[in-house]
Amino acid sequence: MADDGQRHVRVAVIGSGFGGLGAAVRLRRAGITDFVVLERAGAVGGTWRDNSYPGCACDVPSHLYSFSFAPNPEWPRNFSGQPHIRAYLERVADTFGLRPHLRLDCEVRALRWHAERLWWEIDTARGPLTADVVISATGPLSDPQIPDIPGLADFPGKVFHSARWDHDYDLRGKRVAMIGTGASAIQIVPAIQPQAERLTVFQRTPPWVMPRADRRISGVERWLHTKVPATRALRRQLLWGIRELQVSAFTKRPGELGLIEALAKAHMHKAVKDPALRARLTPDYRIGCKRILLSNSWYPALTRPNVDVVASGLREIRGNVLVASDGTETAADAIIFGTGFHVTDMPIARRVTGARGTTLAEEWKDGMAALRGTSAAGFPNFLTLIGPNTGLGNSSMILIIEAQLNYLVDFLHQLDVLGGRIALDARQSAVDAWTRTVQERMARTVWNTGGCDSWYLDANGRNTTVWPGTTSEFRRVTRQVDLAEYEVLRPPRPAPDGAPAGAGRTAAEEVAA
Ligand code: NAP
Repeated sequence: MADDGQRHVRVAVIGSGFGGLGAAVRLRRAGITDFVVLERAGAVGGTWRDNSYPGCACDVPSHLYSFSFAPNPEWPRNFSGQPHIRAYLERVADTFGLRPHLRLDCEVRALRWHAERLWWEIDTARGPLTADVVISATGPLSDPQIPDIPGLADFPGKVFHSARWDHDYDLRGKRVAMIGTGASAIQIVPAIQPQAERLTVFQRTPPWVMPRADRRISGVERWLHTKVPATRALRRQLLWGIRELQVSAFTKRPGELGLIEALAKAHMHKAVKDPALRARLTPDYRIGCKRILLSNSWYPALTRPNVDVVASGLREIRGNVLVASDGTETAADAIIFGTGFHVTDMPIARRVTGARGTTLAEEWKDGMAALRGTSAAGFPNFLTLIGPNTGLGNSSMILIIEAQLNYLVDFLHQLDVLGGRIALDARQSAVDAWTRTVQERMARTVWNTGGCDSWYLDANGRNTTVWPGTTSEFRRVTRQVDLAEYEVLRPPRPAPDGAPAGAGRTAAEEVAA
């Protein structure tokens, strides 16, 4: 309890997806039990709780897309479906004793830095609390984005987003419009095509689609992974190593990706015999510029007699008629938006007010930026998991999250070593230097040079989402907190000359003081 009787914790974690639960496990392992996990929904799981659309699965193999400290020898398939991943996260919450820390139905409405007390004031749906340190693990794929289409509000039929699937709505006998052809849509379309009377896919930009090497993991393999854990570890290492070797083609030598394009084209040729349809489905940008999608059922589904592909974006809606940018008109009973998420304009950023009195969204209006993808200047003791430029084009985000958790644990350790009531605020100069280096490296990556527009780029065309290196390099740069990159904040107390003492010193000055 704080002096005024209000609930106070050492650490408040926001979100209970992979990031939030991972943070909770690492906190407990570091001996920190004075923390809460604030979750706006009624259950854990983050994006794997919210995305329950038909066909939802992960396209990173499960033995890599799981915590290193919570291996699961029982993964049923190479690429697990959403129910298995969600169940895995529920198990993590149980196995690591996280339930007592969870505050469900506890949406964070606002966070405000208190410069005198050096803590965060947090307003939640279940009342206020304060915390020395906040870990924002809200994730980039948590708030659905529905484009502002003229006439949408007056559409008389059913409308929902891929991440808010209405399982009570029966698609049988309906004319369904699927908007978008991203990772979500290409899983949804083959799954609902057999039910829908007519299915019209609005494709603004064709994706590159590669074969999906999915298969059941045999009983023998699972037995082996259970009895001889080294085999499971080896499997994970191999999956990881292959992806590490691919990174340089994306980051330094996009020219090498031509061979992969040939494979993807052959994959399409095999399923789509109609040259006119093939032409509409062929991308005109370098593979990898947008996320490479994996599917064996996408192209076959598009050739079914009840499916139409409109090679154009949705421009407006007139009554129950959807009008594409090329003028095509399609009558529909239901619209499903597979149009992605608020990634570069995370809604949580509007709710966080830092030491300068500005919100994170205001600080990030020209582009998200944070030291080592984690600490934004002016937001002391506030760490973002999957922050700016931490995303991956080809590997498991769990590796990035775990690297950031190493950084988080060291951050808390440094606070202990410095001692007393204290906060660390990333220096603006350090954030700027970090961002400059990242952006210089970004200049020649396929994400910036491949000739496409993608959710990796923000409204200003800057790539503030992807990490332009390997996961091992990210792990290396987040192994420890470099105190020289932070300002040490102490509670203001009057010094002999009247100036506040203890505030804004470097760690070296702190030690000397
Ligand atoms: P997304 O990749 O952002 O795709 C959004 C789609 O909506 C794009 O095709 C976009 O077209 C289209 N779009 C937007 N406005 C439109 C309009 N007015 N008319 C027509 N189309 C429009 O979103 P997502 O598919 O939900 O995937 C988001 C991320 O989630 C993925 O990149 C991935 O990281 C993750 N995810 C992973 C998996 C998996 O592991 N298999 C599955 C689902 C999601 P443009 O291309 O022209 O912008």
